[in-house]
Amino acid sequence: MSNKHLLARSLQSVWHPCTQMKQHETFPLIPIQRGVGVWLYDADGQRYLDAVSSWWVNLFGHQEPRIKDAIKLQLDSLEHVMLAGFTHEPVVALSEKLSELTGLSHAFYASDGASATEIALKMSFHYWRNLGLPGKTQFISLKNSYHGETLGALSVTDVAIFKDTYAPLLRPSAHMPSPDFRLAEPGETAEAYALRCAAALEDYVSAHHAELAAFIIEPIVQCAAGMAMHHPIYLQRAREICTTYQVHLIADEISVGFGRTGTMFACEQAAAKVSGIADFICLSKGITGGYLPLSAVLTTDTVYQAFYDDSTVKGFLHSHSYTGNPLACSAALATLAIFADEPVLEKNQATATYLKNQAAGLAELPIQHLRQQGMILAFDVVTAQPHFAQRCYAEALKQGLLLRPIGHTVYFMPPYSISPVEVDFMLTATSNAIKHAL
Ligand SMILES: *Cc1c(COP(=O)(O)O)cnc(C)c1O
Repeated sequence: MSNKHLLARSLQSVWHPCTQMKQHETFPLIPIQRGVGVWLYDADGQRYLDAVSSWWVNLFGHQEPRIKDAIKLQLDSLEHVMLAGFTHEPVVALSEKLSELTGLSHAFYASDGASATEIALKMSFHYWRNLGLPGKTQFISLKNSYHGETLGALSVTDVAIFKDTYAPLLRPSAHMPSPDFRLAEPGETAEAYALRCAAALEDYVSAHHAELAAFIIEPIVQCAAGMAMHHPIYLQRAREICTTYQVHLIADEISVGFGRTGTMFACEQAAAKVSGIADFICLSKGITGGYLPLSAVLTTDTVYQAFYDDSTVKGFLHSHSYTGNPLACSAALATLAIFADEPVLEKNQATATYLKNQAAGLAELPIQHLRQQGMILAFDVVTAQPHFAQRCYAEALKQGLLLRPIGHTVYFMPPYSISPVEVDFMLTATSNAIKHAL
């Protein structure tokens, strides 16, 4: 079947995500037929380097044999069973492993990141209610935060283009100053600025804690904000403030979990284990290596025990049909097995250093705030071109590169399997794309 025919059928029948469909009158869809390693191939054999890990989900490249085999093996015994009243080996094994890794002892499952956000928010509110504090109904987050697009998640999100249209449907929620170190005063260190933002957080929390259930934060990198990075001291101070004023801290590691920022979880840059920072962690995206939809919320035994009661309504009566899907859990187990058996984080450190050294060459372009956390590298392009992001995306595709700038921020979040030769290709193509898009 020709590409052209497939594109026409897609535009007729598929409503694509995060897209003004009319733009496809001028920007064609890209029909992908297969993926191998960091490469995506279309039907004509044209290939694109997947510099954004297929929207931040892929960890080890496309067609990773261990994950593929684990799903195939699981498929031969059990594809799915409901998780209310039933259980199975993959979900139990995964919960045990995630508990071990995070120090948070109980895992609740869903299929998407936004659902994980909803679960953490509902659980936090319900915890306080079960404790006899039903007035703790409010949530706070950071300015420019992103926690997903369902109504509850959008309420704690602060990205105008996604949020403003739906504002009448959303719960009001306060957004704290972001420790994004691009916002520091000239001469102010990232750490000093983070401490200044933490002081502002404390001012708010100390005044409003009676109504506050939880503070939700993307630790270390606010990805959708344009890879805004902050100093880990902010997480330590936020933990102390939340403890002092009896407010939960929810770590949304949906995009930064599973090694993206250099540590297995971003919270580990501020504490030995996630449990030293967070009462809840939301995980998704990389959890299955980018193979199948799965999300998880892990929390403490303290939270769990507040729901454990003879009363049914004190329990957490929340569910999704595919909760704990065995195929997705088997992909997640294979992903964790790769981390356990191979020096993934050490290898990434070498790749990240290579990327950093080679990216120094981009300094000839009009860029600022070149920044990096592990396998995420970003910079801001200085240009008056109002359609820079679209133009850069289109120019990159012509160069065989899938790059998706956020506003004036160009970033790389490639699969960990990227080779030095592929890094070089990515940087050269990016440099060319930017020059054409300015
Ligand atoms: C992507 C993302 C979400 C939402 O996940 P979906 O699977 O797209 O619903 C939530 N929080 C963060 C930090 C994300 O990056």
